[in-house]
Amino acid sequence: MDPLLSKIEALAEPGCYSLTFALGTGEHRELVIRMRGDEPIVPAANSFEGWTPGSRLVTATIAVVRALHQARQGTGGSAGRLVDVEGGWDVGIGNVVLSADGVPTCVGHGELAPAGDGVFRCETCGAAARYDRQS
Ligand SMILES: [Zn+2]
Repeated sequence: MDPLLSKIEALAEPGCYSLTFALGTGEHRELVIRMRGDEPIVPAANSFEGWTPGSRLVTATIAVVRALHQARQGTGGSAGRLVDVEGGWDVGIGNVVLSADGVPTCVGHGELAPAGDGVFRCETCGAAARYDRQS
């Protein structure tokens, strides 16, 4: 049986993703993939049987990481930019993202409420972000 991607986790460091694979043997292996722009840096070390560059597994995994990464980047550019509030980390770990409409959104609870001064806060869990509108 081929290894299966069982978990993908965004790390606190921007563009870093931890992936967990279930191997045919019942073991689990983790890999960290770092995105540089839209290009993933895929480690050759710490890999496992079945993790072969160009294989279906690697190609599919990279597609998943890239999609997640792009989603986490939000709409970017002219739509403005989400940054963490002082002492916060919700943007860094992906709790708050920009929706397709460019609205700061809690991934668990939907659109954030404006809390003044460019800060938005989730009324349910308190996740917060500052939204720099680029005018
Ligand atoms: Zn929330």
